[in-house]
Amino acid sequence: MTVRPMMNRDSQFFWDGTAAGELRIQVCNACGAKRFPPGPACPDCGALDRGHLATGGRGTVFSYVVHRHPPVPGREMPIVIALIELDEGVRMVGEVVDVADDEMKIGMPLRVDYRRVDDELTLPIWRRA
Ligand SMILES: [Zn+2]
Repeated sequence: MTVRPMMNRDSQFFWDGTAAGELRIQVCNACGAKRFPPGPACPDCGALDRGHLATGGRGTVFSYVVHRHPPVPGREMPIVIALIELDEGVRMVGEVVDVADDEMKIGMPLRVDYRRVDDELTLPIWRRA
């Protein structure tokens, strides 16, 4: 089972990106501010003129939680969920794979990878860089 993330007009570019192997973030066409999660208006200048760019797919662990309970159907516990600070300066939440929960560290470098769920959904996941 996968918890399906919300998809809408503001986030479609993000999911088109993961399907194409790109981790995209929104960028304000008026002031250049980068942001995540996507939204209709720039929190810095209020402009609605928005675009996006492909990140380098690298970041570091800003914080994390280890999910042990309750169990998630079809998933092995624990699941490590991190808040990742991208090199571009924005933060996003993602699942970290292939790192034992007791090896997780704040500041650990990670790189993005992709888990294709189906034709509509490819999730970004994170691995040790
Ligand atoms: Zn702006």
